Amino acid sequence: MLYSEQAFLVAGLSRSGISASEYLISRGAKVYVYDDVDDANVRAAARHLKEIGCVPVSKEELAEKSEKCDILVLSPGIPVDHPLPISFKRAGKRIIGEAELGATELHCPCVAVTGTNGKTTTVSLLEFIFKTAGKRGIACGNVGKPITSCLKELGEDGVAIAEISSFQLETLYSLKPHVAVVLNVTEDHLNRHYNMENYIYLKSRLLKNSAESEYAVLNYDDPIVRGFSEKTKAKTVWFSLRERVEGAYIQDNSFCWYGERLFSAEELALDGEHNRANALAAIAAAKLMGIGNGAIQSALKNFRGVKHRLEKIGEAGGVTFIDDSKATNVDSAIKAVGSVKGESVLLLGGKDKGYSYEPLFEALKTSNVVHAVIYGENAFRILSAALKTGYSAVTLCRPFDLAVRVAYLIAVKGQNVLLSPASASFDAFASYEERGKRFAELMELFKREAQTDLKAEATHGEFDE
Ligand code: ADP
Repeated sequence: MLYSEQAFLVAGLSRSGISASEYLISRGAKVYVYDDVDDANVRAAARHLKEIGCVPVSKEELAEKSEKCDILVLSPGIPVDHPLPISFKRAGKRIIGEAELGATELHCPCVAVTGTNGKTTTVSLLEFIFKTAGKRGIACGNVGKPITSCLKELGEDGVAIAEISSFQLETLYSLKPHVAVVLNVTEDHLNRHYNMENYIYLKSRLLKNSAESEYAVLNYDDPIVRGFSEKTKAKTVWFSLRERVEGAYIQDNSFCWYGERLFSAEELALDGEHNRANALAAIAAAKLMGIGNGAIQSALKNFRGVKHRLEKIGEAGGVTFIDDSKATNVDSAIKAVGSVKGESVLLLGGKDKGYSYEPLFEALKTSNVVHAVIYGENAFRILSAALKTGYSAVTLCRPFDLAVRVAYLIAVKGQNVLLSPASASFDAFASYEERGKRFAELMELFKREAQTDLKAEATHGEFDE
């Protein structure tokens, strides 16, 4: 791309927008920056970008400045049917995402991972496998490290391990992964993509540029993902928890690869069937990238997972707190309740994304969840799903802090309080990380209270004597 001859409008000034702007400026482009939101973070970003040579654009100036721009770089947070991209489309101009910008400038091999759930876990595990093997694989993309921010670090002989979301796939056209992994496709983001057909189509786009010499690592156990095999030229390599497939699978409790027994599945440090699936996908990608068995085995043994994903954060009053704040859809919460050991009080709720919660309550009926505490903007939608399915061990309680306290009060010693909300956090928090952080703060508060209670009991005992 001849950057110096083009003007870009970067819309959305979060991490990826900032990185895209910095990259474009470094390549000599004219860069206008804009965000609908006017908060402290956006103002700080705009100040920084102005200092490096970008031109911040106000709402009033947007139409006029848009006319000067050739290309719109759209944040994954802004849907493609927002009036701004529509105005660019009408004018016949290009709309790309930060990931597209990165993809066009990648000069090293790429392993790309998409799916409804498990992306961050899988790319982080893959990065750890590469590191254990002494190779330079860098987890980037939706994992919180924009591709444009690590182009230099990747150079020609690194490996980009790119997490790609459906939001990014809306404006990503050029990525040509050597290995493309699709983990699963279940209901999510229907408020953004309108229907499953559209969502499935977007996920399948990860495979559209692959040539015969490249690989598609696909989940054989997921009927939607299985169908992707017919839509790509790439060689299909399967992974499966249930069948002996051409690829990675589990047999006799061992991870296997094309008939070769690698090592015991018990060696995986992560809990849960879903993490075994993520591990199989990572094993397949790592093998295809030439990583040896020893490094894969050692990495799987030592990888402890990612924050806010089924993370045991501590105990208060004999109750264990598990932060699965990143479980922002129904399937991820179902997988969480299925993999947590012992009985749990489950915290559910937040911002609705347009899908049905009934499958979750059906799953709860046969799970170790003893009670669900429902909170958040979608509390009544969730409650109505509980009632429809005849699940009655529920308490509706808002706001979040109170709901966490109620869950803690309901849980008895030896049980868990599990935050696996099946909903986005944006009704009350800036992100799922913030929600997880608040959950941990509340646990610390309960811990202090429990200690004070114990002290009071002990003192009381002394007076009794
Ligand atoms: P993503 O990046 O796709 O959102 P994460 O690895 O961050 O996925 O995990 C998000 C949540 O999804 C976790 O909290 C976990 O409970 C659940 N999860 C992880 N892997 C899977 C999987 N393979 N299938 C279903 N749920 C999963």
